[in-house]
Parts: sequence; C-alpha cells; structure tokens
Amino acid sequence: MKIYFSGDKSKAICPCCGLVDTTFKYRDVFLTETKKTVEKILVGVCDKCNQTVSTPAQSTPAIKAVREAATESIEAQLPSPYLEVLDLACYKINPDAAHEMRKRLVLFYIHKYATQEFALKKSIQAHIDFSKKISVDSPKKRFSMKVSKKSALEFNKLVSALNKTKTETPKSILAEIKVDILDGEKFLPELRVLSAV
Ligand SMILES: [Zn+2]
Repeated sequence: MKIYFSGDKSKAICPCCGLVDTTFKYRDVFLTETKKTVEKILVGVCDKCNQTVSTPAQSTPAIKAVREAATESIEAQLPSPYLEVLDLACYKINPDAAHEMRKRLVLFYIHKYATQEFALKKSIQAHIDFSKKISVDSPKKRFSMKVSKKSALEFNKLVSALNKTKTETPKSILAEIKVDILDGEKFLPELRVLSAV
C-alpha cells in the first residue's frame, strides 16, 4: 500500500471540474452523515477549485474511527443481582481489570449472538431460571454503556430475535453470562486474553 505525504500529486474526479490534478494536504473533513469532523487528515485537493475531492487509503482508518465512535447508548434499570453477576464475572476473568471488562464482556456476548454462535432459547431459559430467584424488593440499578453504531445495531438485532424489550434483553445476556462464566468456565481463556490487552 502506498503512503502519501503532504505535497504529493495525484489525480481524481472533482465534482465541479471533472478529472483534475490534485495535491495532498492535511485538512479537517466534515462527515455530513454523522455531522462529525475528522481532524487533520491527509486529503486530495483539486488544483483548480481547492475543494477536497479524495481521501487516500491511509486516511480511511481515522475516518472510520470517527464515524463509528461510541454514540449510541444501551440503558436499562436492572435489579441489582444482574449487575452483581456482571461484576463477579468480570472479577473472575481478571480481578485487576474487572471494571474495564464490564463493557467488553457485554459487547462480546452481543457480538456472539449477532453472529449466531449462541442459541437464544438457552438464554431465555437462563433468564427465566435466574429471574425466579430475584425478590421483588431487590434494589434497581442503572446499567448504561456507550457503544458504537455497529454494536448498537447488533444489540437491536438481538432485541428483535429475543422478542423482548430493550430493558429485558440485557437481563437475558446477563443470565447467560451467569450460566457460562459463573457456573461454568466457558470462554474463559478467550476472555482472559481480551482482558489483558
Ligand atoms: Zn475542482
């Protein structure tokens, strides 16, 4: 893959001028679809009208990072035992990184469901079994995470696959985490690697 530097020349199609010579320069680029600005990336500038007309491959990761930055949130008020399961599971995976693991663990599960590695039926059953033990006077606590657009889409897919609400869905995930990680040792090696990086 070729790396360009500021001042290098190329060619591109300019919407105003057609096929033109371009010069690479560092500029801020406004992304209309997300209304966010990617700061100081290398772009191809039309030599005739000075518009930004292209982006070299080396600027793509920076654009992608801004486009997919955590913007959506997953929120629910959950009876405390669900969050105790989450915290204890994170602690079992890595006591030194338990707090940072919370979001990663939930996203790991959402992703596993989205790629259909999990049987939804099993999670629904786990949820039923776990919820039976929770007394009605358990305090409720806020479960909230900022996630990328991609994870939010995966979460929404899971909400419809489970045929549950956005509040009920995290409960199914957390009940499954209890069965897999607290009652068993599923994914532990994989998750320990994830927690160490
Ligand atoms: Zn132009």
